[in-house]
Amino acid sequence: MSQDLTSPNQLEVLQQLQNLDADLFTMNELKVKRPQELHREEIKVEAAEEFVQQIKDNIKSAKIDADKSELNIKTHEGEIEKVQVALNTARSNEEYQVFQNNIKRLKEEIGTMEEVVLEKMNVVEKLQGELETASGFVTEAQKEVAIKRTEVEAFVKEVEERISKLEVQRSEAAEKVKPDTLEIYSRVLSRYPDSPLAQIEGEVCQGCHMAVTKQLQSKLLMGTDIVQCLNCSRILFF
Ligand SMILES: [Zn+2]
Repeated sequence: MSQDLTSPNQLEVLQQLQNLDADLFTMNELKVKRPQELHREEIKVEAAEEFVQQIKDNIKSAKIDADKSELNIKTHEGEIEKVQVALNTARSNEEYQVFQNNIKRLKEEIGTMEEVVLEKMNVVEKLQGELETASGFVTEAQKEVAIKRTEVEAFVKEVEERISKLEVQRSEAAEKVKPDTLEIYSRVLSRYPDSPLAQIEGEVCQGCHMAVTKQLQSKLLMGTDIVQCLNCSRILFF
């Protein structure tokens, strides 16, 4: 196989370049992916926090309802006392009956309100149980997410350092490639970020699994120029 001896074997350098680009591709993906995973968990924790807040709001409003009814009961009891005083000054049986009816109605209303208070108290009790469970869950989830956040931050920093190193190595490798070859490589790379090069095996391009013509194979064997697959455009090697 004849080779251009004035420059390093272009295909070998391109393979180095491809390896570096594959690593860079993976690193850049990880740099995005891991924070995204973390973000999804943060959203879950936020939803759980909202749920806890909702329970707290419901407890608050049930307590307000209970307090209102209790206040109403007190007002009614005050009215009953007044009516009872008036009862003693009733001037006729009819008037007496009116006062009695008033007291009966007020007592009935108190009964209904007492039921409301009881019901709201039951609601509060039930919600407080739910709140305890949900709060425990949220506290745990917050702790876990905080640990993960620290991990992901450290991981991203590490990945960024590796990316910087890879980029230096990459530009060193790229310098060894002829400008027109590098241009072709970059074009193919933008199309196939993970595999701009393809091996010929059994006269078939391993990138697209289409046959490579004898003519192209001979051209490649001469080693004077890079050869691209006619079908997928990948840079071919044996
Ligand atoms: Zn191909």
